[in-house]
Amino acid sequence: MPVSTVSIPVGQWFTDDSGRWWFDSGSLALDFAYTGAIRVTVAPETLHAPDDLTGWMRERFPMPVGVARSRDLFDAVSLRDAIGRLALAAGRGEELRAADIDLVNLYAATPDIPPTLGGGSRQAGRSVQTVGQALSTIARDAVDCFGPANDGRVRICAGGCGIVYLDTSRAASRRWCSMQRCGNRAKVRAHRARKSGKVALTAA
Ligand SMILES: [Zn+2]
Repeated sequence: MPVSTVSIPVGQWFTDDSGRWWFDSGSLALDFAYTGAIRVTVAPETLHAPDDLTGWMRERFPMPVGVARSRDLFDAVSLRDAIGRLALAAGRGEELRAADIDLVNLYAATPDIPPTLGGGSRQAGRSVQTVGQALSTIARDAVDCFGPANDGRVRICAGGCGIVYLDTSRAASRRWCSMQRCGNRAKVRAHRARKSGKVALTAA
């Protein structure tokens, strides 16, 4: 059962040499890590100033989140980098660093964005949440992502692009960052290999 109490949409658009493509990381915490912590070509640093963090939070969270301050940016980048290191370690099957786990647990222990039931007289969900609460929601998602329920499901794309994702498929059979991107490239490679194999056989 997820530790996170509110449901936040997952996935984002990336733009790189293969064009614009949709990347479903499988987890809010991993999406957040791709604001810069996981050093792959698709994710350069995007959180340069508190306003960048405010922008990300407002785009991502369906409920109003307050303005980020310098302190929030410092907290956000610390948490994000810890999540990024945990993701890479989990993807490689390495042991997770205790210091990174401590950091995630620290933020997860603070108040998060509470779930709300619509239809009340006080317009539930209209109150502004703090950046700290949003970070706690992200940290709780990380607890779920790297917890025993997802053991072996944090993986690195089999296409060699280095992208880490959480496999949320029922059969735990996801192999690619995106079927349209690395999945298709692998299919094309396999097709070419089969074809050249046939050519070699015919020539022999
Ligand atoms: Zn890939």
